Amino acid sequence: MAKLVDLRSDTVTKPTAEMRKAMAEAEVGDDVYREDPTVNRLEELAAEIVGKEAALFVPSGTMGNQIAALTHTLPGQEVIVDPRMHIFLYEVGGLGRLSGVQTRTIETADGCYTPDQIRSAIRGNNIHFPNTGLVCLENTLNRAGGVVIPPHRLNSVADAAHEYGVPVHLDGARIFNAAAALDVDVRNLCEKMDSVMFCLSKGLAAPVGSILAGSKEFINKARKYRKLLGGGMRQAGILAAAGIIALTKMVDRLQEDHDRAKRLAYGLVEIPGLVVDLSKVQSNIVVVDCSGWGKSVEELIKILAERGLLVTPFGPYHLRMVTHKDVDDAGIDLALKIMQEVGKELA
Ligand SMILES: *Cc1c(COP(=O)(O)O)cnc(C)c1O
Repeated sequence: MAKLVDLRSDTVTKPTAEMRKAMAEAEVGDDVYREDPTVNRLEELAAEIVGKEAALFVPSGTMGNQIAALTHTLPGQEVIVDPRMHIFLYEVGGLGRLSGVQTRTIETADGCYTPDQIRSAIRGNNIHFPNTGLVCLENTLNRAGGVVIPPHRLNSVADAAHEYGVPVHLDGARIFNAAAALDVDVRNLCEKMDSVMFCLSKGLAAPVGSILAGSKEFINKARKYRKLLGGGMRQAGILAAAGIIALTKMVDRLQEDHDRAKRLAYGLVEIPGLVVDLSKVQSNIVVVDCSGWGKSVEELIKILAERGLLVTPFGPYHLRMVTHKDVDDAGIDLALKIMQEVGKELA
């Protein structure tokens, strides 16, 4: 088969040679006893980078989000989410099943609630109501096409929630993409967040792992919930070593992925039958409306895969393409060529 262009997700990135070397040479110990020096180093570094007191290395972003909910809330409380958020849509109903909370979905126009939406959603003092336990944010917001939320919007949501003593969790799986796109320090995006989760295993190319960061007290509690969920790992320094390279060497190149996403999007809108909302191509995600081609998304995915282009379905009419370090300029050219050829046959 010809060369593959894999734009399904930035999760497909392979660890770099430098990561593999660091992994092979990592100093390790039993991390459940807190004796793995490499995990300890990663956690300290991660906390410092996002401007929090402490951090916890977790096996996946999903586990990081679920631990955050477990740590912040009590069963029977209500958690405010946008229905497009990963924590609501893609985590197997974990909020209800693991934390025993109910979700209150608030639709947002551009990926971030207004402070008034938060104020009116937080439950008042009424014997019938659940208590509001948590507000969730996601930056970049994947289901909205990777749009970025600037610091002042995040801060205004946090201020509104904090007026009522409700904590705020940020799903920052791609927070470094948001920081790069906005050209701000990642700390500015996390400043008012009570907890932040981010992935090492996406655009930053580590093989496994995410970080949950927050206050010392929060992370101490979270560490026990990680154990409860089976996420207490032993010589995890092998994985953390790659995470350290991810944070120190892979952040600065993310703008390259964003530039390629823009080039891909501008190429796609030239193809008859395709529609891309260019205003939403703000990071490394491109969402394409293919309804003009008259094929189901499932059929299209198959046709494209046969030619060597891998993409993800995103609802009944849309495909998602994600740029990352393992797709170079030639890969983008090839992706566009395949789309042009398929378009000629279908449109
Ligand atoms: C990928 C992702 C996660 C976590 O994913 P895992 O596959 O569990 O590591 C959480 N939130 C968002 C927005 C994501 O894109």
